[in-house]
Parts: sequence; C-alpha cells; structure tokens
Amino acid sequence: MKDKCGVVGVRFDVEKNRDAAALYIYYALQALQHRGQESSGISVTNGCCVLSDKGMGLVTDYFNRERLQKLAGYAGIGHVRYSTTGGSKLENSQPFTVSYKNGTIAIAHNGNLVNYKELKHELESHGRVFTSDSDTEVIAQMLAMELIKNDIVEAVRETMKRLVGSYSLVILIDDKVIGVRDPLGFKPLCIGHVDCGYILASESVAIDTLNGELVRDVAPGEMVILGEKIESYKLVKCKNHAHCMFEYVYFARPDSIIDGKLVYKVRHNIGEILAAECPTDADIVSPVPDSGITSAIGYSNGSGIHYAEALIKNRYVNRTFIMPAQELRETAVRLKLNTVKSNIDGKRVILIDDSIVRGTTSRRIIDLIWRGGAKEIHARIGSPPIISPCYLGIDMASRDELIAAHKTVKGVEFLIGANSLYYISLEGLVKAIGIDKDDLCTGCLTGVYPIEIPGEKCEDKQMKLNQFAPE
Ligand code: AMP
Repeated sequence: MKDKCGVVGVRFDVEKNRDAAALYIYYALQALQHRGQESSGISVTNGCCVLSDKGMGLVTDYFNRERLQKLAGYAGIGHVRYSTTGGSKLENSQPFTVSYKNGTIAIAHNGNLVNYKELKHELESHGRVFTSDSDTEVIAQMLAMELIKNDIVEAVRETMKRLVGSYSLVILIDDKVIGVRDPLGFKPLCIGHVDCGYILASESVAIDTLNGELVRDVAPGEMVILGEKIESYKLVKCKNHAHCMFEYVYFARPDSIIDGKLVYKVRHNIGEILAAECPTDADIVSPVPDSGITSAIGYSNGSGIHYAEALIKNRYVNRTFIMPAQELRETAVRLKLNTVKSNIDGKRVILIDDSIVRGTTSRRIIDLIWRGGAKEIHARIGSPPIISPCYLGIDMASRDELIAAHKTVKGVEFLIGANSLYYISLEGLVKAIGIDKDDLCTGCLTGVYPIEIPGEKCEDKQMKLNQFAPE
C-alpha cells in the first residue's frame, strides 16, 4: 500500500504541560492536512496508559472538543493518511497501537515498505495476527517483538535492519516520543522546539503553526528520543541519501523547509530555470493553481513575462469524482477551475504546472483555456517526464497509466492539446533543489531506483546490513 501521509509527535515536560499534547497534535495535523485527507488519528499517554482515537475524514471533521478532551496526556503522536483506492478504511488508519508484554506502543508512518509482504508472511508464520493490510502494522508488530528482548535503541536498530523501503516514523513507547528516519531519508521528518517541549513533524510548517522553532531535520538512519532533552542515535550510516524529489516538486507545502531547503525557493528556482532552458515568446505566464503558482512567479521573474492568472480554483472542491458521462466529467473540472477570460482572450499563454502524471488533468485544463479564447498555449512542466512508478510512498500511478512512459514529448504535447510542451531537465531540477543528484531519489524520472525493487533497475545505494553501526 502506498501511503503519502503526515506524522507528528509531541513531548511536553510533564510538570509544565500535563494535558495538552493532543491539542498541539490536532493543530499540527491540520498544518499537514495536504499530506493526507482520508483519515486522522491521535494517540497520547498520561504516563499510565495510552489513549487513542482515530477516524475517517479530515482532522477538523473527525476531531472535536469532546474527543480531544478525552485524550489528556503530555506525550503523543498523530497521523493524517492518504491512501490508494481500496486501502481507504478505518482499520488501516493510524496511529497503530500494539500491546506487548511490557505495555503498549503506538506508531505512525509516512512511507512505503517494499518488502512488507515477506515480513508479514514471516510474522504470520510466527503466530502474529494482523488486523489491517497496512505495512505500518508490520513495523509495529516487529518492534513489539524486539522490545521483549531488547532496550528501545536495540529494538529499533534490529527492526530497521529488516525494513526495506521508505519510512519516517513517530513512535510512542512509555512516555517517550521517538522519531526514526530510514537510512536513505526518502520522506521528510524534522524536530522542533515548542513551549514546554519538543515536536517531531513531517514538515516544518507544523512547527511554525505551534509557534515553535525548527531545530533540525532528523538525519537519514537516525533515531531521536524526545524526553526532557533530545537523545540522538545514528543507527545506520549510508554514503548517499535518496530524498524524494517529488516532495519539492509537488507534495510538500511551499512554506516548509525540508532537508535544509525552503520548498518555495526550490519551486521559484524551477520557474526561473524553465524560463532559461526554453525561452518562449508569450503575453502572460499563468500557473495551474495551486501547485504551479510559485514556479509561475519564478518563470515570470526569470523571463520578464507578465504573471496573470488564467485559472481560478474553487477552494471548496477537493476531488474530481469519477463521472461516467463525458459531459459530467467536464462539469467536474469546471467546478474545480474556472478561467479569467480577460486574461487569456487573444493571448499567448505560458501555462506552468508541477508535473504530468496521467495527462488527463493537463488535457482538461488546456481545453478550458482554449475555450477561454487563448491564441497559443505553451505548457511548461516543473518536473521531467514521469516514466516509472513510485514504490516509495508517493501514490503516483502504475506504469500503464503514466503518459510519459508510453509517449514521446511530442506525443504528450499532442494529447494535451498544447502548441508546445517542455519539461524541466533533470539537471535543471537538481539545480533548483540544490541537493546533490546522488542524494535524491529520482526513480520515477529515470526508472533507476535507490533500492532494489523486483523487476526494476537499481543504483547501488541500498544499505547493507553491516552499515548498522554499533552505538
Ligand atoms: P494527471 O496528469 O492527470 O495525472 O494529473 C497530474 C496533476 O495531479 C499534477 O499536476 C499534480 O498537480 C497532481 N498530482 C501529481 N501527483 C499526485 C499525486 N501523487 N496525488 C495527487 N495528485 C497528484
């Protein structure tokens, strides 16, 4: 199951803030709502027991004052989840709690385990019973087994040795809040300082929301324990990392700082680089809202072409329903987006979007702009062609569905109905992000993955077991 999710952990000084962890987590999860809208959950401890509540829907839809009041505690974790169709059910929502001999652990995960089926099978043959089809439960069960034999640090180290894939975890064990990031650092995880305590979050915007300060990112292969202070354990050392480039291109909020890079700046750079790589005469440059906005501003700055909005997004419509009749499908697009005709009528429009996955969105949007009277439409895309699936946590599409896996740039240009189409080069994207290419995961763009995936090509990045350094 591919989950793109948001995680949060909060640990307060019990003398100073005994009850409010859930409220802080609630606000932090709202700041991360873009990372998942299907389910929301919070687990806290009051020092005696773990209290949990989770349900389907947005954070503010599910949690209310009454639910939060029942979650009084000074340490806890939270999760917002997005899943592919079929995986959207309550039993897959997080945090997962697992009871074992010494107590209860709660765990929340952002990422995707590549070897979860093998691990699950192995655990089942040892008599473990699963209540969900989520890979996170596999991690929870493995960790619970290790905690019977080992202290926390050793238990996490032993668990990490078995996991292949992407995982940014927040874990509640006793009253300790633990953060773990996989050895290649696919998915983000950062630490912040808030009034009376510490916070872990997928993105720094959650820390900003709580009026806290970003301390640093959790390093790839690192485990941190939030208590009275931050304890750090470097459990795995890897020569290179594999930060997901798509976090910068589309997924993260532009006001987040991920692995030292402000996402807004990266997207602005993308626009400037697009303008430099493919100079084009036009009257206006316009974003596909919201994901293309920052890059369109960068493009306008770089090219000197006037920035104007061709499209306005209806804030209250989140999803395009799958409607059988073509006519209704178009209504769904129009419900989401409408054109500003005076900005486009008779104009040559440069349209900036973050990515093309299946190509259906671009085709419909470009059709809308044609109907608004545009003279020319030139599509400029903030990521290179996506030619391979993501196995590491972005719910993208299968290879069959990826338009660029089967068509040339000219073929995609024809399909989406633009006068011209240009994707940023891989070198351009790497430069925009400002992280060495060897430290980025570009599997979906190159078809070469940083870890071994059956049937796919692999770089030699995957950690070997002997890289698990003794502390
Ligand atoms: P399409 O080409 O029709 O599949 O749509 C691509 C657009 O959907 C992109 O421009 C993004 O704004 C957005 N998008 C890209 N990746 C995802 C994803 N994993 N989940 C949801 N939306 C996405």
